[in-house]
Amino acid sequence: MNRKNSKIDRRSFVRHGVGAGVGAWALDRIPKKKMVSQNKSAGSPIIITSHTNDTAADAMQQAWSILTDGGSALDAVERGANVIEVDPNDSGVGYGGLPNEEGVIQLDSSIMDGKTYNAGAVAAIENIKTPCSVARLVMERTDHVILVGQGALDFARSYGFEEVDLHTERSRNAFLRWREEHSDRDDYGSPDHLVTPNQDEDDYDSIPFHYGTTNVLAVDSNGDISGITTTSGLSWKINGRIGDSPIIGAGLYVDNDIGAAGATGRGEDVIKCCGSFYIVMRMGQGRSPQEACEDAIEFIVHKYRNVNPNFFPSEKFVAINKDGEMGCASMGSNRVPSMTVANSDGLRIEEGVRTQYTG
Ligand code: ASP
Repeated sequence: MNRKNSKIDRRSFVRHGVGAGVGAWALDRIPKKKMVSQNKSAGSPIIITSHTNDTAADAMQQAWSILTDGGSALDAVERGANVIEVDPNDSGVGYGGLPNEEGVIQLDSSIMDGKTYNAGAVAAIENIKTPCSVARLVMERTDHVILVGQGALDFARSYGFEEVDLHTERSRNAFLRWREEHSDRDDYGSPDHLVTPNQDEDDYDSIPFHYGTTNVLAVDSNGDISGITTTSGLSWKINGRIGDSPIIGAGLYVDNDIGAAGATGRGEDVIKCCGSFYIVMRMGQGRSPQEACEDAIEFIVHKYRNVNPNFFPSEKFVAINKDGEMGCASMGSNRVPSMTVANSDGLRIEEGVRTQYTG
């Protein structure tokens, strides 16, 4: 057990590049790319999240304390994900997430425990701030894997979860503005207080689809691996739509002998390519986490983007392996994909590789 690293100095929270050639690259170069991350492993324990804000840093610090106290990867990923789920300012996960087209916030979440090879998930669950903890109960207290909608809510209530309004003022205003402005052929219009020009990040009306999910993946000091993917899903989605996040193999997959992977971004493509399962299987064939994440992006680009090229390319994958190596890749975004990492090298943001997706 390694206690000496249990406290991480927030000042050491700095950016590092995982990829040798961070930035744009040609898709046909993916398989041959040798990533620096292959030589950068600090071993286990390690925990990562696809989030990179202050809340993520806090989440990883709390989760890291669990790992350095000898706690399980399962407890660590749940703690980390819970911190992000209850953040009212996060528009893509849990409380304050953006709602569906009817203004209802429906959350998707999954958990997988490599030690037991068990998994649990909830989908389209309403009114519960910490859906990943409900998913954990599905995994540990039932013989099922996924509970959906009202059934998932009833299950959570039976375990004493408090039902709350998941809307914050911010998420409700974003929905009202979207409803008023997305079409000029309905009966909604914008009152003055809602159309005041606002250039900050609350200005969701200029974003046709807003994504936001978090993946939390960890290896503990016993070498056991766990993961969580949790989200409010695609904004303004059709009522009842479920993304990749609660689907084991799509938004999340863990194999205790190999590693773990998680996905964010447009879930439809991730479901079709079984993205997280594919990444873990690629790692099982000897690919590094970085290479395997890039393989999954390439898979989507060459197959599913041909069918639906007009959708916003948003997918991002993160992965870790049993040796504590990590990887991260995304498709077509303007930003270099990154993740928050805590291991014996400290707490920091690592950058991955962004594709040059041209549609
Ligand atoms: N993957 C999520 C979904 O499709 C959205 C996201 O990651 O932002 O619901």
